[in-house]
Amino acid sequence: MKNLKIKNRFTAELPADPELTNEVRQVKDALFSFVNPTKPSSPELIHASLETAQMVGITADEIQTKEFVNVFSGNEILEGTRPFAMCYAGHQFGNWAGQLGDGRAINLTEVENDNEFFTLQLKGAGKTPYSRTADGLAVLRSSVREYLCAEAMHHLGVPTTRSLSLILSGDQVLRDILYNGNPAYEKGAVVCRVAPSFIRFGSFEMLTARNELKNLKNFVEFTIRHYFPEITGEPKEQYLQFFKTVADKTREMILHWQRVGFVHGVMNTDNMSIHGITIDYGPYGWLENYDPDWTPNTTDSQNRRYRYGNQPQVAQWNLFQLANALYPLINEAAPLEKILDDFMINFEEEYKIMFLSKLGIFTSSEADDKIIKGLEEILQLSETDMTIFFRNLSQIQKTDSADLAIKKIEYAFYLPEEIRDKTLDAWQKWFSVYLKKLNSELLSDEERAIKMNAINPRYVLRNYMAQLAIDAADKNDYSLIDELFQLLKNPYDEQPESQKWFAKRPDWARTKVGCSMLSCSS
Ligand code: AMP
Ligand code: MG
Repeated sequence: MKNLKIKNRFTAELPADPELTNEVRQVKDALFSFVNPTKPSSPELIHASLETAQMVGITADEIQTKEFVNVFSGNEILEGTRPFAMCYAGHQFGNWAGQLGDGRAINLTEVENDNEFFTLQLKGAGKTPYSRTADGLAVLRSSVREYLCAEAMHHLGVPTTRSLSLILSGDQVLRDILYNGNPAYEKGAVVCRVAPSFIRFGSFEMLTARNELKNLKNFVEFTIRHYFPEITGEPKEQYLQFFKTVADKTREMILHWQRVGFVHGVMNTDNMSIHGITIDYGPYGWLENYDPDWTPNTTDSQNRRYRYGNQPQVAQWNLFQLANALYPLINEAAPLEKILDDFMINFEEEYKIMFLSKLGIFTSSEADDKIIKGLEEILQLSETDMTIFFRNLSQIQKTDSADLAIKKIEYAFYLPEEIRDKTLDAWQKWFSVYLKKLNSELLSDEERAIKMNAINPRYVLRNYMAQLAIDAADKNDYSLIDELFQLLKNPYDEQPESQKWFAKRPDWARTKVGCSMLSCSS
């Protein structure tokens, strides 16, 4: 990979842990530890993303080489690089968790390509000082999910880390999927993922919690200098601007999550990127029947802290933790509070515009609030598939009757026999108001449909789809991984040959592990 331009800004400019073992420990006064990936016994490339490769400076031919498999499985270390694990802390499920760190992530290096910087990071390449009680490994199941979803999110237009490669390690990994005392061996895998950096809210929280204020100042300045060079001015002004930029980017990301029905599942502050990109794909899921209270994460089934409808509030709460972490540099609460308040005010405004655009309403007025609230309510009267509902909505024409409109979206109903009496009434009423609204819009039916279909995806990585790809991959058949990878490159296109993926969750997936039930075990 001769064109990879190695840059090691993080390790060159920030304090390192002087210890070089991978023994689990508290790492003070340092932002990272140098580590070596664990060598896999027989690495085998399952899939690679050509687009991500080219983005960082790797060619199509290079993907096919032994060197590629070796480097991105941790078997071989690229010349001029020194892998490292980052030290960070975080709030998990609302509670302070202290030091966490890259327990099974190992940054290989930063690279520069076309004046952009990228960090290449392995997930599942073995123990680090931050592995706590775990093994630093990842199973094929969770690696397929992360690999496919990150790329799918990118093509949906949602800010995210990218996936470079998915490699089988050849080793067995022991996991208790449901944490119920039934551990079993699964195939191990390593994903290489790419982001501008893997700095998290928790990276700053750690320094403040330990009162390492000099490191905090250096680290914030490092981050601004390299990743937010547009921020200039007096130091205090810069820190505030940095916080505001992170808040803005986070808001934009959450808005996209809500638009496509993505539920992250583990929005702990150590899983929040300062770049406002989706990071750490674990027990995530997609809303199938529209239910704001839904979370795919069984570990969170009691409190549902990270349910779909709560994601904006959680993002604000997480930003509040970041504000606390930055506070010692700013020493003034009011401007931080203002940014936090504005986060929700702006979010609500933008959410309304986004939701209306999903409905094909591009000129808003007061009455539109009712259309939104009304729809959010009836979508829950009887299980209604979010993706199918919004996608098929673009077929409705201004001259349709309410009954014809209902016919056009009825494929979204999981239990069509429930659409009668009061529920049918509610739909008819809502569609009458909606059709009236459409008639006051300037766009023609065709123009509106085009705009709506660029916002409402036809294909998302439903959990059952990922699970089918996992089940096949377990039997050494990787064709479905590639099929879904290709399908999800164009999630807004009709792709008539892929009609079978424009379907509601099948009944068998309703209660199956990996489909409706996911845990943090990965
Ligand atoms: P997560 O919930 O995946 O974001 O993980 C929370 C923390 O646990 C992070 O510090 C991870 O690096 C660590 N962790 C998760 N799984 C493992 C594992 N298999 N081995 C070591 N550390 C892990
Ligand atoms: Mg994490």
